[in-house]
Amino acid sequence: MIHERMLIGGKWVRSKNGDVMEVVNPAAGEVFAEVPLAGKSDVEDAINAADSVFSSWSRMTPFERGKYLRKASELVLKRSEDIARLLTMEQGKPLAEAEGEVIKGANILRYYAEEGERIYGRIIANEEPGTGSMVIYQPIGVAAAISPWNYPIELLAWKVGAALAAGCTLVAKLPSETPLSPLAFIKCLADAGLPDCVLNAVTGPGAVIGPVLIGSPVVKKIAFTGSTEVGREVLKGSAETLKKVSLELGGSLPMIVCKDCNLDAAVSGAVRRSFRNMGQICIAVNRIYVDFEIYEEFVERFAKATEKLVIGNGLTDKCDLGPMCTPAGVEKTISHIQDAVEKGAKVVCGGKRPEGAKFEKGYFFEPTILRDVNHNMLVMREETFGPLAGVMPFGTLDEAVELANDTRYGLAAIVFTQDISTAKRLCRDIAAGNIAVNNVDAGVINAPYGGWKDSGFGFEHGPEGLYEYLHAKHIRIRYL
Ligand code: NAD
Repeated sequence: MIHERMLIGGKWVRSKNGDVMEVVNPAAGEVFAEVPLAGKSDVEDAINAADSVFSSWSRMTPFERGKYLRKASELVLKRSEDIARLLTMEQGKPLAEAEGEVIKGANILRYYAEEGERIYGRIIANEEPGTGSMVIYQPIGVAAAISPWNYPIELLAWKVGAALAAGCTLVAKLPSETPLSPLAFIKCLADAGLPDCVLNAVTGPGAVIGPVLIGSPVVKKIAFTGSTEVGREVLKGSAETLKKVSLELGGSLPMIVCKDCNLDAAVSGAVRRSFRNMGQICIAVNRIYVDFEIYEEFVERFAKATEKLVIGNGLTDKCDLGPMCTPAGVEKTISHIQDAVEKGAKVVCGGKRPEGAKFEKGYFFEPTILRDVNHNMLVMREETFGPLAGVMPFGTLDEAVELANDTRYGLAAIVFTQDISTAKRLCRDIAAGNIAVNNVDAGVINAPYGGWKDSGFGFEHGPEGLYEYLHAKHIRIRYL
């Protein structure tokens, strides 16, 4: 049994009242670790700690701050195998993918160490002779990060990297289902010599910790990644203290497959983006619209490739897919399949839990494709956040766009076509913050990543992600 502590004011501590929260291995459905269950006063201590060093941290040069981030990045790489094991044990993803995520986390810290050095202002000419304007950017204050369990290191790294590089101090609320690997990641920052109190990490339920962070007048910015429903609560709660808020919320990703596409690339892209991490990705493909001329061929090839995916225990088996992270995720996937089948959809492959002794206790599910779906079905309108994709044909590009835009979400979309004019038109008309053309990886760390509609607002990644933690200040000078 692993017993971990949280980081408050430079010390690794238990919760004041001694309460703990259990961590479950989703491949076995068994508890294997405990972390502190923070109460209100623990969270207040973390906020006060972050506040106590804001002045000194924010006045350091970005070059000095960058040194800590670079050192931490190196430590993350050195410890990547151990951190990845924790990540697989608590989240379920195959070890190789877990290690990939940890390495990404290290690269994000290095990227923001560099981007911090590129916080530029502006010199602006004035109409009146002898006067001029300057715009400078300054850190906003104590920030809070709230992130989910599907990519617990990567999503935390976006926030830690940008906040610290900008000169903010931070309280991170770690995901309840997967607190161990983020704690190990945060330990790298502490061990890199980051001054005490600059970064604090609390573990425990969002419903307890969230309101304390959101309600605090000391916290000036909340970076939230999670569901649209909780995001809405975060925004409402932040109104009282008028915090700056960025919300990276749910998605229901459309993929449009045109008849002139490279079908091999479209099929392998659909497999990867529908089922990787068991579909527990905000930019997982939920719904695929295929030109009716190639619909049958696409469905057949998509199913064939999906059936080759190997499900297993991410820690011990060489596999493509591990278990889902929570039993609730399995139940939601089943409910979306049932809803679609009742309304006329057909299961092309998957649709059930895998059989065999090794799958009995964990939260396993087969990657599932539905055909003959329509927009009265949950799978085509709501986020499943599970290994489920619906496929339906389209006739014209107008129809494809209308279907793609027919949900409340607007996080990202994927387009496969070899016609540049078609690509341009789809990129113009699809209402989403990110579009991938002939690839399925819509996010890269040095370009802005943010949602439209119910997928939220504000940015992570790139300079835009950094400026979320900065205030602009206009200075007008009359030169004497
Ligand atoms: P969630 O909204 O339930 O939880 C997210 C985080 O918020 C967790 O740390 C949770 O403990 C915390 N939380 C819960 N209640 C809270 C409250 N009242 N106040 C403040 N914080 C609270 O989401 P989840 O189920 O953990 O994650 C899955 C969701 O995250 C999906 O909808 C997915 O699309 C979304 N997501 C979005 C992105 C993106 O970049 N847009 C990335 C990953 C995941």
